[in-house]
Amino acid sequence: MTITCDKCNNEFESRISSRKINNEVSVFFIRCPHCKAEYPSYYENDQFRQHTAKIRKLRTDYNKEKNVSKRVKIWEEIEQLTNTNRKISNELKEVFKNVL
Ligand SMILES: [Zn+2]
Repeated sequence: MTITCDKCNNEFESRISSRKINNEVSVFFIRCPHCKAEYPSYYENDQFRQHTAKIRKLRTDYNKEKNVSKRVKIWEEIEQLTNTNRKISNELKEVFKNVL
């Protein structure tokens, strides 16, 4: 997908890159190849990565589960972990907003 840079108005192909901020935290961002402006997308730490792995496993369980109420329970757990990850990412964004 082609997107437009807020800073230089040039168009470029949207691609997510990542960089380690410290031992635990990584940031995922889009960089404009023209003016090198960087737009952070999300931040992750160890807890975030553990949740992501768990969500992946739960999605597999969800697809295999035939019992409807068990399926709903799995879905709720996925939603909870997704919300927690969103919170983690937003908190990290606050902490590291001046780094990227
Ligand atoms: Zn630009």
